[in-house]
Amino acid sequence: MSDTISQALFERARAVIPGGVNSPVRAFRAVGGNPVFIARAKGARVFGEDGSEYVDYVGSWGPALLGHAHPDVIRAVQEAAEGGLSFGAPTSREVRFAEAVRALYPGIEKLRCVSSGTEATMSAIRVARGFTRRDVIVKFEGCYHGHADHLLVKAGSGLATFGVPDSAGVPEGTAKTTLTLAFNDIPALEALFAARGGEIAAVIVEPVVGNMGCVPPEPGFLEAILSLCRKHGAISIFDEVMTGCRLARGGAQERYGLRADLTTLGKIIGGGMPLAAYGGREDVMNVVAPLGPVYQAGTLSGNPVAVAAGLATIERLVPEVYEKVEKLGAALEAGFKDAAAKAGVPATVQRVGSMITLFFNDKPVRSWAEASQSDTKRFAAWHAGMLSRGIYWPPSQYEAAFLSAAHTDEDITRTVEAARASLG
Ligand code: PMP
Repeated sequence: MSDTISQALFERARAVIPGGVNSPVRAFRAVGGNPVFIARAKGARVFGEDGSEYVDYVGSWGPALLGHAHPDVIRAVQEAAEGGLSFGAPTSREVRFAEAVRALYPGIEKLRCVSSGTEATMSAIRVARGFTRRDVIVKFEGCYHGHADHLLVKAGSGLATFGVPDSAGVPEGTAKTTLTLAFNDIPALEALFAARGGEIAAVIVEPVVGNMGCVPPEPGFLEAILSLCRKHGAISIFDEVMTGCRLARGGAQERYGLRADLTTLGKIIGGGMPLAAYGGREDVMNVVAPLGPVYQAGTLSGNPVAVAAGLATIERLVPEVYEKVEKLGAALEAGFKDAAAKAGVPATVQRVGSMITLFFNDKPVRSWAEASQSDTKRFAAWHAGMLSRGIYWPPSQYEAAFLSAAHTDEDITRTVEAARASLG
């Protein structure tokens, strides 16, 4: 249970904001109790309005790979802000930013800045449709790609959490052009392409899923997407809003040695500011206005303050960051496994680098059908136990937790101890 200050704030919030939150999962509904209202954050810690302190594994849902309020990033933001908050005109900073992102992703020859992951995926889909002159898109059950109409079909994240995978308010005609398959199901993908390959504009995928909890791709799955797209003239889109710059500097594509036609990025590349991007093959990106017929625009796109935070963050993505989170992640994974085994609780720990999920499920989770078998009641009880012990874990079974370079060995020890006690 949360503190009385947060409770009072939540009551006020609910009177003016639907559900009291500006993004659904924040409401803590899936785990019961009230959300903690955060006053500030530093490193691997978040601090509640009542002064309470937590070891944070939400990391702003992904951006905080370097830890919160990294001094260099804050300084870059302050300096940029002094020069004006927004111009709606090109800047040298955004050119440097685009060059820095391109240097990380060999598949990105050209890119556009937008302000959220939703805009990035929505725009990438439009570009793929405009380029191929086809309408059908393929996504995988349990993957979340933001809240654009045609992507809210069998989606993960909050939709999975609240059991409304298909949002109301999406016209039937729109939803019809989105076909869904089970993640990791290569035969189903092959069959779909065999039947309707000529209609498919794009396949969009979270290369490592975070939005149904952490679910890695089985060997060959991502490769099958790339090769089937190539064979049938469809565009492959790796949605690396979450995995980008997290699983490696060059995201899942670097980690697995792959290259998609289009890539969407967000979260880490904005260093905690509203900044995202989509980009990829030059011939495909050249359909974007003013060069081509696909329209996409934004008053705040390439915002100078956001871009400054992003650049400062990208410049600090050194190999040591990834070595550290890998080591911390391995320790956390081993600790959770041991704790669950000793407590006799059916559990599966899945991790790729700094993304980790403790599924209350006795079997490995490879798809939404398997993820949805998890014991969410048990997760809720465990989550409450963790929170009461000062661990701020994502408040849903169907969200990955994130490690940062600011976490320490002591944090991991403390978290494993809390997990042990909370499983009891
Ligand atoms: N794609 C993925 C893979 C995501 O994880 C998210 C957000 N969690 C989005 C897209 C949407 O990004 P945003 O919330 O910035 O709109």
